Amino acid sequence: MGILETLSKVNITEKMWGEALENHNVVPDGFEGVAFYRVVKKVGNLEKGCVITDSEIIFAFPRIARILQLENGIKLTFASPFYVEEKVEGYNVRVAKVRDQVLAFTRGGYVCPFSTDRLEDFFNTENFFGANPDLIICGEIAGPENPYNIESPPYVAEDVNFFTFDIKIKNTDQQVPVEKRYELFDKYEIPTVTRFGKYTPSDTKKLIEHIRELNEKGCEGLVFKPTNPAEKTLKYVTVDSCLKDIKVTSSVMIETPAEFFTHRILRTIIYLLEHNFPLDKAFLEKTGEALLLPIFENAEKAVKGEMIVERFNVRFNKKQNITKLFEHFRKCKVDAELISQKKVGKYWHVEFVRRCFASYEIIQNYWKGFSHFD
Ligand code: ATP
Repeated sequence: MGILETLSKVNITEKMWGEALENHNVVPDGFEGVAFYRVVKKVGNLEKGCVITDSEIIFAFPRIARILQLENGIKLTFASPFYVEEKVEGYNVRVAKVRDQVLAFTRGGYVCPFSTDRLEDFFNTENFFGANPDLIICGEIAGPENPYNIESPPYVAEDVNFFTFDIKIKNTDQQVPVEKRYELFDKYEIPTVTRFGKYTPSDTKKLIEHIRELNEKGCEGLVFKPTNPAEKTLKYVTVDSCLKDIKVTSSVMIETPAEFFTHRILRTIIYLLEHNFPLDKAFLEKTGEALLLPIFENAEKAVKGEMIVERFNVRFNKKQNITKLFEHFRKCKVDAELISQKKVGKYWHVEFVRRCFASYEIIQNYWKGFSHFD
């Protein structure tokens, strides 16, 4: 099948495709001989992050609507039963078989060399994709040793694990219904996020208990998945996950849109009000520390002429994928520097830093006395 025939299935004409290529709204990409296009700006109904090959389309992973008030949000959104899952703090991958290779695509539609390297540790991809070549496994890779996120779930003590939650179907934005998904996860022994089961909109008391427990354990939150396709998926996070987000991001707040902080502060306030959490001295101290301490420590470094960096450790099966991860960083304009790589037991252990030059330069300039209008 040619690419135009594939595109015609989603109503994209030759003219639309030509324009998209010319305007760089889609860009050619590839991984180990597998060629594909990555959508960087919406084309027809294909969103950013969508992957297109000669013979198939892997739709982008959709955004999930967020509620800030749990009880009211659930009652306002659902009339039918819904499934409840843990929201795992990691990064999203869509795993699919393209030609004869199983690849892990990031949210942006890049192949992630690290995630692709580690798939064999998570589940038997040959069994699953051998029987289901048209399905896409969506999940979260999470743990302290990953190349993107500083935060990780409390129950992953080292390295990373995979937690699947959705199965999408190639060439459509549809997904396999929840019950069928769970059956496939169990049949093929694919590790999943915690599944809390089926609830109705009047079960909010139980949901409140779950979220409080997750908050105490240091987990991120919940995702609610409808059984009625006319209803939408929702997400809701714990108050401590908001503070953790602030803490790991305030160190580079100069490179972060201000709304990142505004949204998390609002989520915190509404959580405190709904769950009657006291805004006491201890909480205020924790918030102040999360917001000020990391940027203060980085500013101290920049003033001394020391580069601001974020440190990462990751483990690889294949040495050649280490180089590929750095090529991927270059493509994504991430300024990463390899510190060390050594084989320890089964894995290559890699340490690298992300250089936060913008944060460093701005603090240095302020310190040197440069003036500006704000
Ligand atoms: P976040 O919600 O973490 O701030 P985001 O801005 O990318 O991230 P969305 O675009 O709404 O938000 O995506 C929701 C994210 O939640 C996805 O990256 C997805 O991988 C992740 N996620 C974690 N656990 C689940 C789950 N059980 N079901 C669906 N998505 C989940």
